[in-house]
Amino acid sequence: MKKLSFLFLILVFGLTSQAQDYSKDSIAALRYIYKGGDAYEVSTFPHQFKTDQPKNIILMIGDGMGVTHVFAAMTANRGHLFLTNCKSIGFTKTQSASDYITDSAASGTALATGVKTNNGVIGMDPTGKPVANIIEEVTKHGLATGLVSTAAITHATPAAFIAHERNRNMYQAIATHFLDTDIDVFIGGGYNHFAKRRDGRDLVKELKEKGYQVLQDMEEIKKVEHGKLAGLTAPEHNPRVPERGNMLPEATHTAINILDKDADGFFLMVEGSEIDWGGHDNDTRYIIDETLDFDRAIGEALKFAAEDGETLIIVTADHETGGFAIVGGDMESGYVKGAFTTGDHSAVMVPVYAYGPGAEKFTGIMENTEIHHRIIELLIDE
Ligand code: MG
Ligand code: ZN
Repeated sequence: MKKLSFLFLILVFGLTSQAQDYSKDSIAALRYIYKGGDAYEVSTFPHQFKTDQPKNIILMIGDGMGVTHVFAAMTANRGHLFLTNCKSIGFTKTQSASDYITDSAASGTALATGVKTNNGVIGMDPTGKPVANIIEEVTKHGLATGLVSTAAITHATPAAFIAHERNRNMYQAIATHFLDTDIDVFIGGGYNHFAKRRDGRDLVKELKEKGYQVLQDMEEIKKVEHGKLAGLTAPEHNPRVPERGNMLPEATHTAINILDKDADGFFLMVEGSEIDWGGHDNDTRYIIDETLDFDRAIGEALKFAAEDGETLIIVTADHETGGFAIVGGDMESGYVKGAFTTGDHSAVMVPVYAYGPGAEKFTGIMENTEIHHRIIELLIDE
């Protein structure tokens, strides 16, 4: 009897401690663990190009995408990513004018204008003086231009490529800058910032008067082959994948196809906006889903560049988010166990990957402003 109750005690103790471990684990497991999902095929593209100097440049920004985010996605897809086609690799330092740890407004401005500014500022230097962005600079030389994002097209990263505002949260003010430029294609969320405005302006109507096809349905947007296009696919931000479907790869393909009609060449910025949000949420699955979606958009760009032979693709990030680490995983099942050191951005350098003519210029350790300078050097031949 004594023996039995002792056994009983052991059993109860064992069960409860196990139950405690399990519940602790399941809370963490929900967000830290990616169980593995369907993998997709990755093509390998040749490295023979028609020129040394690119006619077109596609800059692809994974918001918050550090090396760990890339490797987590690579593990999830069984060791392969489209990104692996990029053989020229470097790092950028992301520090802003005001902070050791940047936000997306300051780092977007650094990439878009080549000027380090304060956190929160869009397209202005630290004194509040507007500075020219790549779109403005290359438009003067006849190139076509485009922006694609999964977030609102008025959100910090795309905003830095089109607007000049003191505060990234001024979405309605940022939307007006699209009317001040000759941008050919933009696809993202943010319809409300154009249509439902406090100042009474109807920017959708104004865009139409300027010759834009303004469309909200991705199925309609996909059919556009030429002309000016404003694709506003969500009232604010597009939802995360899988709800978002293939919006980003499809928008990337559509934008390239339209911009390629310009004989002078083009500049396109594509943002995987929501990798950052997975980082802020400390959610491994969110990060991996978004990074894989971004990689499939990279695949669309690479496919075009490989056939075209005159297009340079640069893939980078504006900063790292989450202080993300991988503490477990399996290449065969795609299982990844993540860990996080912050719910915010971190200060670490971020990777740069390049494919195409001029790719070798994006190697080594650079300031993020160098990305802008080297793009301009390659696209504007003076
Ligand atoms: Mg962003
Ligand atoms: Zn962020």
